[in-house]
Amino acid sequence: MKYDRRHFLAGAMASTALIGLSGCTTVNPATGRSSFTGLYSVEDDIKLGRQEHPKLVEQFGGEYENPRLKRYVVETGNKLARGTEYQQFPYQFTLLNTPIVNAFALPGGYVYMSRGLLALASNEAEMAGVLAHELGHVNARHSAERISAAQMAQLGMLLGAVGGSALGLGSEALQIGQQIAMLSIQSYSRQQEFEADTLGVRYMSRAGYEPDAMVTFLSTLREQSIVDAEMRGLPPGSVDQFNMMSTHPRTKDRVEAAIKAAAVSRPDNPRIGRDTYLAKIDGMLFGDDPSQGYVKGRLFQHPELRFQFQVPEGFRLMNGRDQIVAQNQSGAAIIFDTGKVQRSRDMASYLQNEWTPNTPLRDVERITINGQEAATGWVRGQDRRGGTVDLRGVAIRRNAQSVYRMLFVNPAKDSPRLARGFRETTYSFRRLSQAEASKIKPLRLLLVPARKSDSIGGLSKTLPYGKYNESWFRVLNDLKPNEALPQNRRLKVVAA
Ligand SMILES: [Zn+2]
Repeated sequence: MKYDRRHFLAGAMASTALIGLSGCTTVNPATGRSSFTGLYSVEDDIKLGRQEHPKLVEQFGGEYENPRLKRYVVETGNKLARGTEYQQFPYQFTLLNTPIVNAFALPGGYVYMSRGLLALASNEAEMAGVLAHELGHVNARHSAERISAAQMAQLGMLLGAVGGSALGLGSEALQIGQQIAMLSIQSYSRQQEFEADTLGVRYMSRAGYEPDAMVTFLSTLREQSIVDAEMRGLPPGSVDQFNMMSTHPRTKDRVEAAIKAAAVSRPDNPRIGRDTYLAKIDGMLFGDDPSQGYVKGRLFQHPELRFQFQVPEGFRLMNGRDQIVAQNQSGAAIIFDTGKVQRSRDMASYLQNEWTPNTPLRDVERITINGQEAATGWVRGQDRRGGTVDLRGVAIRRNAQSVYRMLFVNPAKDSPRLARGFRETTYSFRRLSQAEASKIKPLRLLLVPARKSDSIGGLSKTLPYGKYNESWFRVLNDLKPNEALPQNRRLKVVAA
């Protein structure tokens, strides 16, 4: 799963690690605060942004090619950017083709928003609030601060290592130093989040938007993260690394405080732009893109590569860029990907000699899965924490040069209980005919007027989240738990 901003930041930092440590302090015109930004100049911000931009877009599934929507995001972003302090940044707004709910910025004015996030917003002011918050990070130059902090941590680490070895402490001190370095690049501090909100409110009111939209959208994001946590079997409110709330930890109170702290005069007739916004997102892709394949409950279907398989009860599927992963709550996982065949003539040989050349497998068997040549074998090993795990590999012929691969991993004690489900998953793999594949249509977000006969159960049943459909429907439409269906407004539904 590659959808993690932190890896990227680690990479960005590594590529700019050696830009000098003789620090200097500058007064930031946006925050009015002196900040230690090292020798990291505004030009460096722009250079870093420009260099990392294409990699980031690629990592997040590319741009969402919807010219009308793209133009709308860019126009809104530009309107906000006109009110920012650093006019020398080449502001650029990118709509990413991913259902994951996320927004972030690179130094130098590169701002990103996912279509997953657009699906949750209810009006233009809410979308503007997200863009304005990211412009806040850019103008406060938080990345430069963070990179400088990481440089400091590196310096500390070097000192720690030198001092440590002199004292005979060895590599432990080094590890602690590395942890500090990682922490300082992992996420923005609370103060930085507050600053981004305060600046964001400033840019919103300069562009004529209702600043309170930041608060309403924050509530929606929080509701969504609760549903998401439930779907993953985590306690409600817990955040995880793929969740926007974990990289932008903010509360309603703090955003309200930021609105006060911004001390801006509210626009006379603040723009909300609900109707315009809903008209723009009407028909937008919802969930996975056809080129990435679809998760439908326990079923994974790929209409372009033309195959499908189903995972056992209790497993949750996640569709990543390079692999599909399904996990259950007791630590078992199924990892599906593709591999290249170099020289093996059959699947048993591929399995043993190319996939796991250094691990002798037990019980290697040639099998046929719905007409496809395949092979399977397993091994007992240790995981990183020293637990005993069983791993089973299944290689399925795709064509002369490539294979589909399923890897089943579980704590060894669970093997008897899981064997049957894993076997069913193995044999659920099959090719889709052209006709079957063409029937699998992407889901789209549609805006419909509510009718008297409608119910939440009925309107939400086309969502792809099974028993969480109603919760999702409520989040999409700003309905509180138990709130009745409103009669006089348009509602977001999902349909193929
Ligand atoms: Zn933030």
